[in-house]
Amino acid sequence: MEIKAIRGFNDILPDEIGKWQFVEKTAREVFEGFGFSEIRIPILEKTELFSRGIGEATDIVEKEMYTFIDRGGHSLTLRPEATASMARAYLEHQLYTFDPVAKLYCIGPMFRYERPQKGRYRQFYQIDAEVFGVENPMVDAEVIVMLIDFLKKVGIEKLELQINSLGCRICRPGYREELKKFLSNKSFQLCEDCQRRLQTNPLRIFDCKVESCQEAIANSPKVIDFICSECQKHFDQVKEYLEAGGLTYLLNPRMVRGLDYYTRTAFEVVSYQLGSQNAVTGGGRYDNLFQEIGGLEIPGIGFAIGMERLVLLLPKDREFVQTLHLFIAALGEGALKEAYRLLNELHLRGIRAEIDYEGKSLKSQMRRADKLKVPYVLILGEKEISRGKAVLRNMETKSQEEIAMGDLLNNLVDKI
Ligand code: AMP
Repeated sequence: MEIKAIRGFNDILPDEIGKWQFVEKTAREVFEGFGFSEIRIPILEKTELFSRGIGEATDIVEKEMYTFIDRGGHSLTLRPEATASMARAYLEHQLYTFDPVAKLYCIGPMFRYERPQKGRYRQFYQIDAEVFGVENPMVDAEVIVMLIDFLKKVGIEKLELQINSLGCRICRPGYREELKKFLSNKSFQLCEDCQRRLQTNPLRIFDCKVESCQEAIANSPKVIDFICSECQKHFDQVKEYLEAGGLTYLLNPRMVRGLDYYTRTAFEVVSYQLGSQNAVTGGGRYDNLFQEIGGLEIPGIGFAIGMERLVLLLPKDREFVQTLHLFIAALGEGALKEAYRLLNELHLRGIRAEIDYEGKSLKSQMRRADKLKVPYVLILGEKEISRGKAVLRNMETKSQEEIAMGDLLNNLVDKI
């Protein structure tokens, strides 16, 4: 039986790859322009990095991780997100001894055992950017400005920046209690998972997709009304710096993000073109994550962009597919050898050329060239070669010209 890919794991085929390469290239250019450096981290980590970092009572850790015991008896997990790994690398290599501030980005696949649907997969790609070591709200605004700049540069419009503050270790417990109190006489409306969340982690009820849970929580107290004066000051400054950066935003008091490590600033960029999976990117501040995984008190802020969702939003009128420059149609054995020699030289000069290795009829080679959408075909016949000539056909205008074999390479390089 034919072996197929695993459900929720996608191939990204050559006719799609141009979009992905464009997005990655733009991310590198924009982020490096903002002083960020790339970091590459492993795909597998010790399970406890995520259970401690992301939080035991989150959807990711409770039911979405690809966790297994390796042959040495260690519990390992395919990374469901990159922030915890980046923080681990920063601590492990003591990057803070070089400079207290680290601005890092990373591009790669993440793994979550979610129900696959459009825009939601089990292996999906994220572009992550993180700043470690700065508590100042200026940097919250800086990463958001960078994010929006990137989204604009890839050509995405009609986006909405939503922000919220989730408070801190001091003020959030008070809010949790308020939320619990508010929901205590509505628990019959909650799904089984949320009844449990009500005890373990009531903020996670905001993330639940079940309608009755959303109804139960609709008029709940808002975290923003319970944050302490320090958090309020931080949030006010973030808004001020966002405005100074020329950005508009919408306050979304219901946005709590799905991971426990977030503190203070939380943000999402949503697109109304995407349907129900409308969050293209999300992020926030996480001033307690480092303590959870390593003990040091280091603040952090960052975001993760979902690449599949971003690629869906790219402008439709833009050409991302890399077509060939030239097809060489050789007729006869001697011509095919000459075509092969030319092909190598063209490749060495960076010209994307192709030949027909089987030496088929001119008609069938022209048909293939047409299908490959090449702008030029070089026709090499034995007769032409003996006269020291070749014919170059412009596939768009259908015009043909004879070129002398001696000048062929330079002539082609100039034209293409
Ligand atoms: P999160 O790490 O959950 O904050 O997600 C950040 C971004 O990653 C989201 O805004 C999505 O664009 C993307 N994302 C998260 N989960 C998935 C998934 N299962 N499939 C595709 N994209 C995802």
